[in-house]
Amino acid sequence: MILLQQAKAATSRQGIDMRVFELRFEHGFYYGYISQIGTGSLVRGESGRILLTLQESGLVSEGDAIETIAHELNHVRSILKTGFISSEATAETSAKQAGRYFRA
Ligand SMILES: [Zn+2]
Repeated sequence: MILLQQAKAATSRQGIDMRVFELRFEHGFYYGYISQIGTGSLVRGESGRILLTLQESGLVSEGDAIETIAHELNHVRSILKTGFISSEATAETSAKQAGRYFRA
């Protein structure tokens, strides 16, 4: 497993703007997730940035972290732009595109 800082650095190196996110780790069985409150607003961390929680599967390797963060970023952009979350298929396409260019 890699550290949050490694995940952030690797994703930044892919040209993905990480300023939007505050990363945190939580034990669990998902890759990662963002959270919305009842009104649809995204949950933000203490920094005011959007909270992105990564779990073990999203931190197996730098490639997994990049794909997970790209997936969640696709959801976030959709929510901010339209008020609605993008589909899993759309987010996964975005993740695979980010992963495709990954070079360790
Ligand atoms: Zn998703």
